Order: sequence, then structure tokens, then C-alpha cells
Amino acid sequence: MRAILRRLRVAYPDARCSLDFETPWQLLVATILSAQCTDERVNAVTPGLFARYPGPAEMLAATQDEVARAIFKTGFHNQKARSLRGAAEAVIERHGGRVPRRTEQLVRLPGVGRKTAAVVTGNAFGRREGIAVDTHVGRLTRRLGLSVETDPVAVELTLMELVPRTAWVDWSHLLIFHGRAVCLSRAPRCDACTLLDLCPEGLARADSATKAAQPARSRPAARR
Ligand code: SF4
Repeated sequence: MRAILRRLRVAYPDARCSLDFETPWQLLVATILSAQCTDERVNAVTPGLFARYPGPAEMLAATQDEVARAIFKTGFHNQKARSLRGAAEAVIERHGGRVPRRTEQLVRLPGVGRKTAAVVTGNAFGRREGIAVDTHVGRLTRRLGLSVETDPVAVELTLMELVPRTAWVDWSHLLIFHGRAVCLSRAPRCDACTLLDLCPEGLARADSATKAAQPARSRPAARR
């Protein structure tokens, strides 16, 4: 685990949260919008959204249709608009208009699961209470042989036992950067990967590629 972290930190010294935000509320909104959507697209939508609805009170004062139209480009706009207005209402009624700092409070907000809570606690408040597991983190964790789980919460719980707590926030950033640059979903670039000798999936792929490249006559004869 230390070697993985060390190498990824060398490869991605600037790894950080890719969502643009200035306040915990903005990060909460951006993270809700990032479901099934790229961070680039979210970042293209949020400047206008935050200018129009700077905080939970303004978000709640808007109608569902207005919010849905403002976030249309992020997809699932009706569902996300419901979550945003629900979260705004809960933040105002239960937390005096301030985004709560703790995971147990965050996951009770509409539209907020453990991944969103980990992003907000880690990046807006500097608290290490969980590990954000998105599609990249889940895929790479499995390929690296660290978990066989497919459920993100189960992956997170496994990682919380394996990753040093000081690296919980970094772990997500580093794996996301690596998943975007090298360990691509359909065609991982194992030959260019700094983790190849540590990665069971990469070594298995390299072995298959070597066998496939052997001339037919040098392979063992097939049994009859
Ligand atoms: Fe991904 Fe291949 Fe690197 Fe393993 S060796 S982390 S599968 S790119």
C-alpha cells in the first residue's frame, strides 16, 4: 500500500478534487451533480448555478423546474433538482443553513450517500471520515487486488482497513487521476503503468499478451 501511494504521488503530484468550489455548500451541490456526469461538465454548469443560487436559501426559494433547467446539462436533472432542493431544506431546517461537518449528518440529507459525504468531509472540512469510492476508485481497487467487492460501500469499508488514515482523501484523488490517465475502464494501459509489478490484473494481462504473442510451434501441444 505504501508503494502504491508513493508511486502515484510521484506520478500525480497535483492530484486534487476536480470539482470547482469555494464553500462547503458549493462542493455539496457539485458532488450531487457529478453523479453520472463528468466533473468537467459539472464545472461548466456550476458558475452560473452558484451565481443564481449562492446558498441553500436561494436554492430552496427557486422552483423545482427552475433548478432542473439550470442543471439540465448534468443529466438526470429532475432527480438532481429534487435532491438539491431537499438538501437545501434539510440544511436550513436541521443545521441552521450551514452544511454539517460529520458523515452521520451528511448522509441524512436528501441525495447524499457515503461517497458524497466523504468528498465533502475530506475536501471542504479536511476531515478524514471515509474514502470516496466512485467508478474509478472501485475499478482500480479491484484490479489492484485490494478488494473483490463491487458495492461501493463494501469497497470503502475494505479500503478503510488497508489505507493509512492520513491518506484517505488522497487515495481517491490519486486513483481517479490514474483511472483517467492510465488505468482506463475498457483498455488499461498496463505497459505504461507505474503500478504494473504491484498489480495482479496488470500482471495477468501481461502474461496473456506474452502467451498470445508466442509462435504456435513453441506452445505446448494440445492434448487430444
Ligand atoms: Fe490498471 Fe494495468 Fe496499472 Fe493494474 S497495471 S493499475 S490494471 S493500468
